[in-house]
Amino acid sequence: MNTITQKKPPVHKHDVIIVGAGIAGLQAALQLAPHCDVAVVTKVYPVRSHSGAAQGGIAAVLASVEDDRLEWHHYDTIAGGDFLGDSEAVDVLVREADEVVNDLDRAGVPFSRTIGGGINQRILGGHTRNRGERPLARVCYAADRTGHAILTTLWEQCVKHNVRFYNEYYTLSLLISGNACGGIAAWDIQKGGLHLLHAKAVMLATGGYGRIFKTTTNSFANTGDAQAMVLRNGLCLQDVEFVQFHPTGLYDSGILITEGSRSDKGYLLNDDGKRFMANYAAELLELAPRYIVASAIQQEINAGRGINGKPHVYLDIREMGEAAIDEILPRTRESCIKFAGIDPVEQPIPVMPSAHYCMGGIPISLHGEVFADGKNEKMAGLYAAGECSCVSVHGANRLGGNSLMEAALFGKRAGVAIKAFVESNPRSPAITDDCVEEAVCELESIRNAQGKEKSAALREELQSLMTEKCGVFRNAADLHSLKTGLVSLKKRYKDIGIDDRSDIYNMDVLETLELGRMLDTASAVAESACARTESRGAHQRADFPQRDDKNWRKHSLIKFNGDEYVLDLKTVL
Ligand SMILES: Cc1cc2nc3c(=O)[nH]c(=O)nc-3n(C[C@H](O)[C@H](O)[C@H](O)COP(=O)(O)OP(=O)(O)OC[C@H]3O[C@@H](n4cnc5c(N)ncnc54)[C@H](O)[C@@H]3O)c2cc1C
Repeated sequence: MNTITQKKPPVHKHDVIIVGAGIAGLQAALQLAPHCDVAVVTKVYPVRSHSGAAQGGIAAVLASVEDDRLEWHHYDTIAGGDFLGDSEAVDVLVREADEVVNDLDRAGVPFSRTIGGGINQRILGGHTRNRGERPLARVCYAADRTGHAILTTLWEQCVKHNVRFYNEYYTLSLLISGNACGGIAAWDIQKGGLHLLHAKAVMLATGGYGRIFKTTTNSFANTGDAQAMVLRNGLCLQDVEFVQFHPTGLYDSGILITEGSRSDKGYLLNDDGKRFMANYAAELLELAPRYIVASAIQQEINAGRGINGKPHVYLDIREMGEAAIDEILPRTRESCIKFAGIDPVEQPIPVMPSAHYCMGGIPISLHGEVFADGKNEKMAGLYAAGECSCVSVHGANRLGGNSLMEAALFGKRAGVAIKAFVESNPRSPAITDDCVEEAVCELESIRNAQGKEKSAALREELQSLMTEKCGVFRNAADLHSLKTGLVSLKKRYKDIGIDDRSDIYNMDVLETLELGRMLDTASAVAESACARTESRGAHQRADFPQRDDKNWRKHSLIKFNGDEYVLDLKTVL
Protein backbone atom coordinates (compact mmCIF):
# COMPACT_ATOMS: atom_id res chain seq x y z
CA MET A 1 0.00 0.00 0.00
CA ASN A 2 1.26 3.48 -0.86
CA THR A 3 1.84 6.00 1.89
CA ILE A 4 -0.36 9.06 1.52
CA THR A 5 1.54 12.34 1.69
CA GLN A 6 0.60 15.92 1.01
CA LYS A 7 3.56 18.14 1.66
CA LYS A 8 2.48 21.58 0.52
CA PRO A 9 -1.10 22.43 1.35
CA PRO A 10 -2.69 25.32 -0.60
CA VAL A 11 -2.93 28.63 1.27
CA HIS A 12 -6.04 30.88 1.26
CA LYS A 13 -6.00 34.39 2.67
CA HIS A 14 -8.86 36.27 4.29
CA ASP A 15 -9.14 39.09 6.81
CA VAL A 16 -11.11 36.96 9.25
CA ILE A 17 -11.76 33.23 9.59
CA ILE A 18 -14.73 32.06 11.62
CA VAL A 19 -14.79 28.37 12.50
CA GLY A 20 -18.41 27.30 12.90
CA ALA A 21 -21.64 28.24 11.13
CA GLY A 22 -24.06 28.04 14.04
CA ILE A 23 -25.82 31.09 15.41
CA ALA A 24 -22.67 32.46 17.14
CA GLY A 25 -20.48 32.17 14.03
CA LEU A 26 -23.06 33.57 11.61
CA GLN A 27 -23.91 36.51 13.88
CA ALA A 28 -20.22 37.47 13.95
CA ALA A 29 -19.90 37.01 10.17
CA LEU A 30 -22.81 39.40 9.60
CA GLN A 31 -21.14 42.12 11.66
CA LEU A 32 -17.97 41.76 9.60
CA ALA A 33 -19.24 41.12 6.07
CA PRO A 34 -19.88 44.75 5.09
CA HIS A 35 -16.40 45.80 6.25
CA CYS A 36 -13.90 43.08 5.42
CA ASP A 37 -13.23 39.75 3.74
CA VAL A 38 -14.71 37.16 6.10
CA ALA A 39 -14.80 33.40 5.59
CA VAL A 40 -16.78 30.82 7.58
CA VAL A 41 -15.35 27.30 7.83
CA THR A 42 -17.79 24.59 8.86
CA LYS A 43 -17.62 20.84 9.05
CA VAL A 44 -21.34 20.40 8.37
CA TYR A 45 -23.41 22.38 5.90
CA PRO A 46 -24.31 25.65 7.75
CA VAL A 47 -28.02 24.99 8.22
CA ARG A 48 -27.22 21.58 9.73
CA SER A 49 -25.42 23.20 12.67
CA HIS A 50 -26.79 22.17 16.03
CA SER A 51 -28.32 25.62 16.61
CA GLY A 52 -31.03 24.48 14.16
CA ALA A 53 -32.22 21.86 16.66
CA ALA A 54 -33.16 24.40 19.35
CA GLN A 55 -36.86 24.27 19.97
CA GLY A 56 -37.83 26.13 23.13
CA GLY A 57 -36.79 29.67 22.32
CA ILE A 58 -34.59 32.67 23.02
CA ALA A 59 -34.86 34.62 26.27
CA ALA A 60 -35.22 38.41 26.47
CA VAL A 61 -37.07 40.87 28.66
CA LEU A 62 -39.64 42.22 26.17
CA ALA A 63 -42.62 42.08 28.52
CA SER A 64 -44.86 41.47 25.51
CA VAL A 65 -47.27 39.16 27.33
CA GLU A 66 -46.77 40.11 30.98
CA ASP A 67 -44.82 42.50 33.18
CA ASP A 68 -41.09 41.71 33.29
CA ARG A 69 -37.91 43.43 34.49
CA LEU A 70 -34.20 43.25 33.65
CA GLU A 71 -33.36 42.66 37.31
CA TRP A 72 -35.66 39.61 37.43
CA HIS A 73 -33.92 38.08 34.41
CA HIS A 74 -30.56 38.89 36.01
CA TYR A 75 -31.57 37.29 39.31
CA ASP A 76 -32.98 34.14 37.65
CA THR A 77 -29.83 33.67 35.57
CA ILE A 78 -27.50 34.03 38.57
CA ALA A 79 -29.67 31.92 40.90
CA GLY A 80 -30.38 29.30 38.19
CA GLY A 81 -26.60 29.10 37.63
CA ASP A 82 -26.20 28.32 41.33
CA PHE A 83 -24.20 31.52 41.92
CA LEU A 84 -21.26 30.71 39.66
CA GLY A 85 -22.18 33.06 36.79
CA ASP A 86 -20.28 36.33 36.42
CA SER A 87 -22.59 39.20 37.26
CA GLU A 88 -20.93 41.54 34.73
CA ALA A 89 -21.52 39.13 31.87
CA VAL A 90 -25.10 38.43 32.96
CA ASP A 91 -25.70 42.16 33.05
CA VAL A 92 -24.64 42.45 29.40
CA LEU A 93 -26.82 39.45 28.48
CA VAL A 94 -30.01 40.80 30.00
CA ARG A 95 -29.49 44.42 28.88
CA GLU A 96 -28.67 43.75 25.23
CA ALA A 97 -31.08 40.84 24.69
CA ASP A 98 -34.08 42.86 23.48
CA GLU A 99 -31.97 44.58 20.82
CA VAL A 100 -30.77 41.18 19.56
CA VAL A 101 -34.35 39.85 19.30
CA ASN A 102 -35.46 42.99 17.48
CA ASP A 103 -32.52 42.69 15.05
CA LEU A 104 -33.42 39.06 14.38
CA ASP A 105 -37.06 40.02 13.88
CA ARG A 106 -36.08 42.68 11.35
CA ALA A 107 -33.74 40.24 9.60
CA GLY A 108 -36.77 38.02 8.97
CA VAL A 109 -36.97 35.44 11.77
CA PRO A 110 -40.64 34.33 11.80
CA PHE A 111 -41.28 34.64 15.56
CA SER A 112 -44.66 33.44 16.85
CA ARG A 113 -46.90 36.43 17.52
CA THR A 114 -49.36 37.68 20.13
CA ILE A 115 -52.87 38.56 18.99
CA GLY A 116 -51.80 42.21 19.03
CA GLY A 117 -48.88 41.44 16.67
CA GLY A 118 -46.02 41.57 19.21
CA ILE A 119 -43.43 38.82 19.57
CA ASN A 120 -45.02 36.11 21.69
CA GLN A 121 -43.23 34.76 24.75
CA ARG A 122 -43.50 31.47 26.58
CA ILE A 123 -42.60 30.07 29.97
CA LEU A 124 -39.41 27.99 30.26
CA GLY A 125 -37.98 26.55 33.49
CA GLY A 126 -36.24 28.90 35.90
CA HIS A 127 -37.59 32.16 34.42
CA THR A 128 -39.69 33.74 37.14
CA ARG A 129 -41.57 36.84 38.17
CA ASN A 130 -40.11 38.86 41.02
CA ARG A 131 -37.27 36.51 42.01
CA GLY A 132 -38.99 33.16 42.18
CA GLU A 133 -42.60 34.17 42.85
CA ARG A 134 -44.01 32.17 39.92
CA PRO A 135 -43.00 31.08 36.38
CA LEU A 136 -43.00 33.92 33.85
CA ALA A 137 -43.23 34.07 30.03
CA ARG A 138 -39.85 35.50 28.96
CA VAL A 139 -38.83 33.30 26.06
CA CYS A 140 -39.49 34.35 22.43
CA TYR A 141 -40.10 31.47 20.05
CA ALA A 142 -41.03 30.37 16.55
CA ALA A 143 -43.34 27.40 17.33
CA ASP A 144 -40.91 24.67 18.45
CA ARG A 145 -38.48 25.46 15.63
CA THR A 146 -36.84 28.58 17.06
CA GLY A 147 -33.23 27.61 16.38
CA HIS A 148 -34.04 26.51 12.84
CA ALA A 149 -35.83 29.80 12.14
CA ILE A 150 -32.92 31.91 13.45
CA LEU A 151 -30.19 29.81 11.82
CA THR A 152 -31.74 29.79 8.35
CA THR A 153 -32.46 33.51 8.49
CA LEU A 154 -28.87 34.33 9.50
CA TRP A 155 -27.50 32.04 6.83
CA GLU A 156 -29.64 33.73 4.13
CA GLN A 157 -28.35 37.10 5.30
CA CYS A 158 -24.75 35.85 5.13
CA VAL A 159 -25.28 34.60 1.58
CA LYS A 160 -26.84 37.95 0.68
CA HIS A 161 -23.78 39.75 2.08
CA ASN A 162 -21.33 37.54 0.18
CA VAL A 163 -19.77 35.79 3.15
CA ARG A 164 -17.40 33.13 1.80
CA PHE A 165 -18.28 29.65 3.08
CA TYR A 166 -15.92 26.71 3.27
CA ASN A 167 -18.65 24.11 3.72
CA GLU A 168 -17.65 20.65 4.92
CA TYR A 169 -14.12 21.62 5.87
CA TYR A 170 -12.88 20.13 9.12
CA THR A 171 -10.64 22.44 11.16
CA LEU A 172 -7.78 20.43 12.63
CA SER A 173 -5.68 23.02 14.34
CA LEU A 174 -4.94 26.65 15.01
CA LEU A 175 -1.91 28.28 13.46
CA ILE A 176 -0.45 30.03 16.47
CA SER A 177 3.02 31.55 16.53
CA GLY A 178 4.21 33.19 19.72
CA ASN A 179 1.26 34.90 21.25
CA ALA A 180 -0.80 35.47 18.12
CA CYS A 181 -3.20 33.38 16.06
CA GLY A 182 -2.89 33.81 12.32
CA GLY A 183 -5.07 31.09 10.83
CA ILE A 184 -6.16 27.48 10.80
CA ALA A 185 -5.43 24.19 9.08
CA ALA A 186 -8.50 22.44 7.65
CA TRP A 187 -9.27 19.16 5.89
CA ASP A 188 -11.61 19.28 2.88
CA ILE A 189 -14.15 16.57 3.71
CA GLN A 190 -15.75 16.52 0.26
CA LYS A 191 -12.62 16.19 -1.85
CA GLY A 192 -9.82 15.41 0.58
CA GLY A 193 -6.69 17.50 1.07
CA LEU A 194 -5.34 19.80 3.73
CA HIS A 195 -5.75 23.59 3.33
CA LEU A 196 -4.17 26.45 5.23
CA LEU A 197 -6.26 29.52 5.84
CA HIS A 198 -4.39 32.65 6.90
CA ALA A 199 -6.11 35.62 8.52
CA LYS A 200 -5.64 38.61 10.78
CA ALA A 201 -8.10 37.12 13.27
CA VAL A 202 -9.70 33.74 13.92
CA MET A 203 -12.94 33.16 15.76
CA LEU A 204 -13.98 29.81 17.23
CA ALA A 205 -17.72 29.08 17.25
CA THR A 206 -17.76 25.29 17.13
CA GLY A 207 -20.47 24.52 19.70
CA GLY A 208 -20.49 22.08 22.61
CA TYR A 209 -19.09 18.62 23.34
CA GLY A 210 -22.28 16.69 24.21
CA ARG A 211 -21.15 13.86 21.91
CA ILE A 212 -18.54 12.71 24.42
CA PHE A 213 -21.57 11.20 26.21
CA LYS A 214 -23.59 8.21 25.06
CA THR A 215 -27.03 9.62 25.78
CA THR A 216 -27.15 13.15 24.40
CA THR A 217 -29.49 15.59 22.71
CA ASN A 218 -26.56 16.94 20.68
CA SER A 219 -25.97 16.49 16.97
CA PHE A 220 -23.13 14.33 15.68
CA ALA A 221 -20.98 17.39 14.98
CA ASN A 222 -20.73 18.43 18.64
CA THR A 223 -17.45 16.72 19.44
CA GLY A 224 -15.62 19.55 21.26
CA ASP A 225 -13.04 20.15 18.51
CA ALA A 226 -12.13 23.75 19.37
CA GLN A 227 -11.95 22.96 23.08
CA ALA A 228 -9.33 20.31 22.28
CA MET A 229 -7.47 22.63 19.88
CA VAL A 230 -7.17 25.17 22.65
CA LEU A 231 -5.89 22.55 25.12
CA ARG A 232 -3.34 21.35 22.55
CA ASN A 233 -1.99 24.89 22.35
CA GLY A 234 -1.44 25.04 26.12
CA LEU A 235 -4.43 27.35 26.69
CA CYS A 236 -7.09 26.55 29.26
CA LEU A 237 -10.75 25.66 29.51
CA GLN A 238 -13.08 27.03 32.14
CA ASP A 239 -15.80 25.25 34.18
CA VAL A 240 -15.97 22.24 31.84
CA GLU A 241 -17.22 19.93 34.62
CA PHE A 242 -20.60 21.64 34.33
CA VAL A 243 -22.57 19.69 31.74
CA GLN A 244 -26.30 20.15 31.81
CA PHE A 245 -28.36 17.02 31.56
CA HIS A 246 -31.70 17.85 30.01
CA PRO A 247 -34.34 16.15 32.12
CA THR A 248 -36.38 14.96 29.19
CA GLY A 249 -34.42 13.12 26.52
CA LEU A 250 -36.53 10.60 24.60
CA TYR A 251 -35.80 7.08 25.87
CA ASP A 252 -33.35 5.73 24.77
CA SER A 253 -31.95 7.78 21.89
CA GLY A 254 -31.62 10.90 24.06
CA ILE A 255 -33.38 13.12 21.47
CA LEU A 256 -34.67 16.29 23.09
CA ILE A 257 -38.25 16.65 24.24
CA THR A 258 -38.50 20.39 24.76
CA GLU A 259 -39.07 21.98 28.11
CA GLY A 260 -41.98 23.77 26.43
CA SER A 261 -43.86 20.49 26.85
CA ARG A 262 -43.67 20.69 30.64
CA SER A 263 -46.39 22.84 32.19
CA ASP A 264 -49.52 22.48 34.26
CA LYS A 265 -50.79 20.26 31.44
CA GLY A 266 -47.52 18.44 30.86
CA TYR A 267 -46.16 16.58 33.88
CA LEU A 268 -43.81 13.82 34.99
CA LEU A 269 -45.01 10.48 36.37
CA ASN A 270 -43.15 7.58 37.98
CA ASP A 271 -43.94 3.88 37.90
CA ASP A 272 -46.55 4.33 40.66
CA GLY A 273 -48.37 6.78 38.38
CA LYS A 274 -47.44 9.60 40.81
CA ARG A 275 -46.53 13.18 39.87
CA PHE A 276 -43.27 13.15 41.83
CA MET A 277 -41.88 16.67 41.27
CA ALA A 278 -43.76 17.96 44.35
CA ASN A 279 -41.21 16.02 46.45
CA TYR A 280 -38.28 17.86 44.88
CA ALA A 281 -39.50 21.39 44.01
CA ALA A 282 -42.78 22.12 45.79
CA GLU A 283 -43.35 25.53 44.16
CA LEU A 284 -42.03 25.29 40.62
CA LEU A 285 -42.70 21.54 40.13
CA GLU A 286 -41.83 20.46 36.53
CA LEU A 287 -40.65 24.01 35.75
CA ALA A 288 -37.87 24.08 38.34
CA PRO A 289 -34.32 24.63 36.93
CA ARG A 290 -33.15 21.74 34.81
CA TYR A 291 -30.58 20.24 37.15
CA ILE A 292 -33.25 19.90 39.83
CA VAL A 293 -35.67 18.14 37.46
CA ALA A 294 -32.91 15.95 35.96
CA SER A 295 -31.65 14.85 39.37
CA ALA A 296 -35.25 14.22 40.53
CA ILE A 297 -35.84 11.91 37.54
CA GLN A 298 -32.50 10.18 38.12
CA GLN A 299 -33.36 9.67 41.81
CA GLU A 300 -36.74 8.16 40.88
CA ILE A 301 -34.99 5.80 38.47
CA ASN A 302 -32.27 4.92 41.02
CA ALA A 303 -34.96 4.22 43.64
CA GLY A 304 -36.53 1.64 41.31
CA ARG A 305 -39.48 3.80 40.30
CA GLY A 306 -38.57 3.93 36.61
CA ILE A 307 -41.42 2.70 34.38
CA ASN A 308 -41.54 -1.12 34.47
CA GLY A 309 -38.05 -1.14 36.02
CA LYS A 310 -36.55 0.59 32.97
CA PRO A 311 -34.28 3.68 33.29
CA HIS A 312 -36.99 6.20 32.33
CA VAL A 313 -40.10 7.95 33.68
CA TYR A 314 -43.13 9.26 31.77
CA LEU A 315 -43.85 12.77 30.51
CA ASP A 316 -47.59 13.03 30.03
CA ILE A 317 -48.81 15.87 27.79
CA ARG A 318 -52.17 14.32 26.83
CA GLU A 319 -54.12 16.91 28.81
CA MET A 320 -52.95 19.62 26.39
CA GLY A 321 -55.07 18.05 23.67
CA GLU A 322 -54.28 17.43 20.01
CA ALA A 323 -54.95 20.97 18.74
CA ALA A 324 -52.57 22.59 21.26
CA ILE A 325 -49.89 19.95 20.72
CA ASP A 326 -50.07 20.47 16.96
CA GLU A 327 -49.91 24.21 17.32
CA ILE A 328 -47.07 24.62 19.81
CA LEU A 329 -45.25 21.28 19.78
CA PRO A 330 -45.47 19.94 16.23
CA ARG A 331 -41.82 18.85 16.10
CA THR A 332 -42.05 17.11 19.48
CA ARG A 333 -45.00 15.05 18.26
CA GLU A 334 -43.14 14.18 15.07
CA SER A 335 -39.96 13.12 16.98
CA CYS A 336 -41.98 10.89 19.34
CA ILE A 337 -43.76 9.17 16.45
CA LYS A 338 -40.63 8.77 14.31
CA PHE A 339 -38.07 7.84 16.95
CA ALA A 340 -40.11 6.07 19.66
CA GLY A 341 -43.25 4.94 17.80
CA ILE A 342 -45.39 6.84 20.32
CA ASP A 343 -48.03 9.48 19.61
CA PRO A 344 -47.99 11.86 22.61
CA VAL A 345 -51.61 12.79 21.92
CA GLU A 346 -52.52 9.26 22.98
CA GLN A 347 -49.67 7.92 25.12
CA PRO A 348 -47.23 9.27 27.73
CA ILE A 349 -43.66 9.84 26.47
CA PRO A 350 -40.81 7.76 28.01
CA VAL A 351 -38.05 10.21 29.03
CA MET A 352 -34.64 10.12 30.73
CA PRO A 353 -31.87 12.69 31.44
CA SER A 354 -29.69 13.34 28.40
CA ALA A 355 -26.39 15.31 28.11
CA HIS A 356 -27.52 18.59 26.63
CA TYR A 357 -25.46 21.70 27.17
CA CYS A 358 -21.89 22.60 28.11
CA MET A 359 -21.78 25.55 30.47
CA GLY A 360 -17.98 25.62 30.39
CA GLY A 361 -15.60 26.17 27.50
CA ILE A 362 -12.93 28.50 26.17
CA PRO A 363 -12.63 31.46 28.58
CA ILE A 364 -13.40 34.76 26.85
CA SER A 365 -13.82 38.43 27.69
CA LEU A 366 -17.10 40.31 27.19
CA HIS A 367 -15.83 41.05 23.65
CA GLY A 368 -15.08 37.45 22.75
CA GLU A 369 -11.29 37.72 23.18
CA VAL A 370 -9.76 34.39 24.25
CA PHE A 371 -7.80 34.52 27.50
CA ALA A 372 -4.49 32.70 27.03
CA ASP A 373 -4.14 32.13 30.79
CA GLY A 374 -7.89 32.02 31.46
CA LYS A 375 -7.71 35.27 33.42
CA ASN A 376 -6.03 38.40 32.06
CA GLU A 377 -3.64 37.67 29.25
CA LYS A 378 -5.26 37.63 25.82
CA MET A 379 -4.19 35.64 22.79
CA ALA A 380 -3.90 38.25 20.02
CA GLY A 381 -6.24 37.62 17.10
CA LEU A 382 -8.09 34.71 18.71
CA TYR A 383 -11.78 35.05 19.53
CA ALA A 384 -14.59 32.70 20.53
CA ALA A 385 -18.33 32.81 21.21
CA GLY A 386 -21.32 30.54 21.64
CA GLU A 387 -21.38 27.16 23.32
CA CYS A 388 -17.67 26.40 22.76
CA SER A 389 -16.82 29.42 24.89
CA CYS A 390 -17.33 30.42 28.51
CA VAL A 391 -18.11 34.08 29.09
CA SER A 392 -19.78 32.72 32.19
CA VAL A 393 -23.37 33.84 31.97
CA HIS A 394 -24.72 30.38 32.80
CA GLY A 395 -22.53 29.63 35.81
CA ALA A 396 -23.13 26.06 36.94
CA ASN A 397 -26.41 25.59 35.07
CA ARG A 398 -28.07 27.49 32.25
CA LEU A 399 -31.70 28.46 31.95
CA GLY A 400 -33.74 27.50 28.90
CA GLY A 401 -33.59 30.21 26.22
CA ASN A 402 -30.42 31.79 27.62
CA SER A 403 -27.98 30.00 25.36
CA LEU A 404 -29.50 30.93 22.01
CA MET A 405 -29.36 34.46 23.37
CA GLU A 406 -25.78 34.02 24.53
CA ALA A 407 -24.71 32.67 21.12
CA ALA A 408 -26.51 35.44 19.20
CA LEU A 409 -25.46 38.25 21.53
CA PHE A 410 -21.83 37.38 22.23
CA GLY A 411 -21.41 36.24 18.60
CA LYS A 412 -22.45 39.74 17.58
CA ARG A 413 -20.17 41.34 20.19
CA ALA A 414 -17.20 39.25 19.02
CA GLY A 415 -17.91 40.35 15.43
CA VAL A 416 -17.86 44.01 16.47
CA ALA A 417 -14.60 43.53 18.42
CA ILE A 418 -12.93 41.66 15.54
CA LYS A 419 -13.83 44.46 13.14
CA ALA A 420 -11.96 46.95 15.37
CA PHE A 421 -9.04 44.51 15.75
CA VAL A 422 -8.50 43.97 12.02
CA GLU A 423 -8.76 47.71 11.38
CA SER A 424 -5.92 48.40 13.79
CA ASN A 425 -3.89 45.28 12.85
CA PRO A 426 -3.80 45.34 9.04
CA ARG A 427 -1.24 42.51 8.68
CA SER A 428 -1.70 38.80 9.44
CA PRO A 429 0.82 37.41 11.91
CA ALA A 430 3.60 35.31 10.39
CA ILE A 431 2.94 31.57 10.37
CA THR A 432 5.89 29.40 11.36
CA ASP A 433 6.57 26.05 9.69
CA ASP A 434 6.25 24.25 13.02
CA CYS A 435 2.54 24.67 13.45
CA VAL A 436 1.86 23.76 9.81
CA GLU A 437 4.09 20.72 10.16
CA GLU A 438 2.11 19.54 13.17
CA ALA A 439 -1.17 19.51 11.24
CA VAL A 440 0.43 17.80 8.22
CA CYS A 441 1.99 15.11 10.45
CA GLU A 442 -1.19 14.38 12.39
CA LEU A 443 -3.21 14.02 9.23
CA GLU A 444 -0.68 11.82 7.50
CA SER A 445 -0.22 9.56 10.48
CA ILE A 446 -3.98 9.02 10.67
CA ARG A 447 -4.49 8.55 6.94
CA ASN A 448 -1.76 5.92 6.92
CA ALA A 449 -2.65 4.35 10.27
CA GLN A 450 -2.56 0.57 10.30
CA GLY A 451 -3.04 -0.25 13.99
CA LYS A 452 -5.53 -2.76 15.35
CA GLU A 453 -7.95 -0.40 17.13
CA LYS A 454 -11.06 0.95 15.37
CA SER A 455 -12.29 4.48 16.04
CA ALA A 456 -16.01 3.50 16.09
CA ALA A 457 -15.42 0.99 18.91
CA LEU A 458 -13.22 3.37 20.92
CA ARG A 459 -15.76 6.15 20.51
CA GLU A 460 -18.51 3.95 21.90
CA GLU A 461 -16.36 2.98 24.85
CA LEU A 462 -15.56 6.61 25.56
CA GLN A 463 -19.23 7.63 25.40
CA SER A 464 -20.41 4.80 27.66
CA LEU A 465 -17.65 5.54 30.15
CA MET A 466 -18.57 9.23 30.32
CA THR A 467 -22.29 8.56 30.74
CA GLU A 468 -21.69 5.89 33.36
CA LYS A 469 -19.01 7.63 35.43
CA CYS A 470 -19.63 11.31 34.85
CA GLY A 471 -23.43 11.52 34.48
CA VAL A 472 -26.12 13.26 36.55
CA PHE A 473 -24.57 12.03 39.83
CA ARG A 474 -20.82 11.72 40.26
CA ASN A 475 -18.50 10.42 42.99
CA ALA A 476 -14.75 10.13 43.60
CA ALA A 477 -14.48 6.38 42.93
CA ASP A 478 -16.26 6.68 39.56
CA LEU A 479 -14.28 9.74 38.53
CA HIS A 480 -10.95 8.11 39.36
CA SER A 481 -11.88 5.02 37.39
CA LEU A 482 -13.00 7.31 34.55
CA LYS A 483 -9.59 9.00 34.51
CA THR A 484 -7.84 5.62 34.39
CA GLY A 485 -10.22 4.51 31.63
CA LEU A 486 -9.46 7.63 29.59
CA VAL A 487 -5.69 7.15 29.91
CA SER A 488 -6.12 3.62 28.61
CA LEU A 489 -8.35 4.77 25.72
CA LYS A 490 -5.77 7.42 24.77
CA LYS A 491 -3.09 4.76 24.70
CA ARG A 492 -5.21 2.52 22.51
CA TYR A 493 -5.95 5.50 20.23
CA LYS A 494 -2.25 5.55 19.35
CA ASP A 495 -2.75 2.09 17.85
CA ILE A 496 -5.65 3.13 15.62
CA GLY A 497 -6.16 1.62 12.18
CA ILE A 498 -7.90 3.15 9.16
CA ASP A 499 -9.60 1.00 6.51
CA ASP A 500 -10.56 3.73 4.06
CA ARG A 501 -7.65 5.34 2.13
CA SER A 502 -9.80 7.39 -0.24
CA ASP A 503 -10.11 11.17 -0.39
CA ILE A 504 -13.81 11.67 -1.01
CA TYR A 505 -15.95 11.88 2.15
CA ASN A 506 -13.55 9.76 4.12
CA MET A 507 -15.58 9.39 7.32
CA ASP A 508 -13.06 6.96 8.76
CA VAL A 509 -10.41 9.70 8.80
CA LEU A 510 -12.86 12.36 9.94
CA GLU A 511 -14.21 10.30 12.85
CA THR A 512 -10.70 9.35 13.93
CA LEU A 513 -9.64 13.00 13.99
CA GLU A 514 -12.76 13.81 16.01
CA LEU A 515 -12.15 10.95 18.42
CA GLY A 516 -8.65 12.24 19.26
CA ARG A 517 -10.17 15.59 20.17
CA MET A 518 -13.07 14.05 22.09
CA LEU A 519 -10.58 12.15 24.25
CA ASP A 520 -8.71 15.37 25.08
CA THR A 521 -11.86 17.30 25.90
CA ALA A 522 -13.31 14.39 27.93
CA SER A 523 -10.09 14.21 29.97
CA ALA A 524 -10.38 17.90 30.84
CA VAL A 525 -14.01 17.34 31.92
CA ALA A 526 -13.05 14.33 34.06
CA GLU A 527 -10.14 16.16 35.74
CA SER A 528 -12.26 19.21 36.58
CA ALA A 529 -15.19 17.08 37.80
CA CYS A 530 -12.85 15.09 40.03
CA ALA A 531 -11.28 18.22 41.50
CA ARG A 532 -14.55 19.97 42.36
CA THR A 533 -15.51 18.43 45.69
CA GLU A 534 -18.93 20.03 46.07
CA SER A 535 -22.38 19.87 44.45
CA ARG A 536 -23.33 22.95 42.47
CA GLY A 537 -25.79 23.32 39.62
CA ALA A 538 -25.33 20.58 37.08
CA HIS A 539 -22.31 19.12 38.90
CA GLN A 540 -23.85 16.83 41.51
CA ARG A 541 -21.39 14.88 43.67
CA ALA A 542 -23.06 12.07 45.65
CA ASP A 543 -20.03 12.13 48.00
CA PHE A 544 -20.11 15.92 48.47
CA PRO A 545 -23.84 16.72 48.39
CA GLN A 546 -23.55 20.32 49.67
CA ARG A 547 -22.60 23.50 47.84
CA ASP A 548 -19.33 24.77 49.31
CA ASP A 549 -19.19 28.51 48.67
CA LYS A 550 -16.16 29.05 50.88
CA ASN A 551 -13.85 26.84 48.85
CA TRP A 552 -15.61 26.42 45.56
CA ARG A 553 -17.46 29.57 44.55
CA LYS A 554 -14.68 29.75 41.99
CA HIS A 555 -14.32 29.02 38.32
CA SER A 556 -12.13 26.07 37.46
CA LEU A 557 -9.42 26.50 34.81
CA ILE A 558 -7.86 23.37 33.36
CA LYS A 559 -4.95 23.10 30.98
CA PHE A 560 -2.65 20.41 29.64
CA ASN A 561 1.06 21.07 30.05
CA GLY A 562 2.21 18.21 27.81
CA ASP A 563 2.43 15.63 30.60
CA GLU A 564 -0.53 16.23 32.86
CA TYR A 565 -3.66 18.30 33.37
CA VAL A 566 -3.17 21.25 35.71
CA LEU A 567 -6.02 22.93 37.58
CA ASP A 568 -6.24 26.57 38.62
CA LEU A 569 -9.09 28.62 40.08
CA LYS A 570 -10.50 31.99 39.14
CA THR A 571 -12.63 34.44 41.11
CA VAL A 572 -16.32 34.75 40.24
CA LEU A 573 -16.95 38.32 39.07
C1 LIG B 1 -31.61 19.71 20.91
C2 LIG B 1 -31.20 21.04 21.46
C3 LIG B 1 -32.16 22.00 21.73
C4 LIG B 1 -31.79 23.24 22.24
N1 LIG B 1 -32.76 24.17 22.51
C5 LIG B 1 -32.41 25.39 22.95
C6 LIG B 1 -33.41 26.39 23.16
O1 LIG B 1 -34.59 26.19 22.92
N2 LIG B 1 -33.01 27.59 23.62
C7 LIG B 1 -31.70 27.88 23.89
O2 LIG B 1 -31.40 29.00 24.32
N3 LIG B 1 -30.73 26.96 23.66
C8 LIG B 1 -31.06 25.73 23.20
N4 LIG B 1 -30.09 24.79 22.96
C9 LIG B 1 -28.67 25.19 23.05
C10 LIG B 1 -28.31 26.04 21.84
O3 LIG B 1 -28.98 25.57 20.70
C11 LIG B 1 -26.82 26.02 21.57
O4 LIG B 1 -26.10 26.31 22.73
C12 LIG B 1 -26.42 27.04 20.50
O5 LIG B 1 -27.27 26.94 19.38
C13 LIG B 1 -24.98 26.85 20.11
O6 LIG B 1 -24.69 27.63 19.00
P1 LIG B 1 -23.21 27.74 18.46
O7 LIG B 1 -23.25 28.73 17.36
O8 LIG B 1 -22.30 28.00 19.60
O9 LIG B 1 -22.83 26.28 17.94
P2 LIG B 1 -23.53 25.22 16.96
O10 LIG B 1 -24.86 25.64 16.50
O11 LIG B 1 -23.42 23.91 17.64
O12 LIG B 1 -22.60 25.24 15.69
C14 LIG B 1 -21.31 24.71 15.69
C15 LIG B 1 -20.69 24.91 14.33
O13 LIG B 1 -19.31 24.58 14.40
C16 LIG B 1 -18.95 23.80 13.29
N5 LIG B 1 -17.79 23.00 13.69
C17 LIG B 1 -17.61 22.25 14.81
N6 LIG B 1 -16.39 21.69 14.82
C18 LIG B 1 -15.78 22.09 13.67
C19 LIG B 1 -14.52 21.86 13.11
N7 LIG B 1 -13.59 21.09 13.70
N8 LIG B 1 -14.23 22.41 11.91
C20 LIG B 1 -15.13 23.18 11.27
N9 LIG B 1 -16.36 23.45 11.77
C21 LIG B 1 -16.66 22.92 12.96
C22 LIG B 1 -20.17 23.01 12.95
O14 LIG B 1 -20.14 22.61 11.60
C23 LIG B 1 -21.27 24.05 13.22
O15 LIG B 1 -21.45 24.86 12.08
C24 LIG B 1 -30.43 23.54 22.47
C25 LIG B 1 -29.47 22.58 22.19
C26 LIG B 1 -29.85 21.34 21.72
C27 LIG B 1 -28.79 20.31 21.49
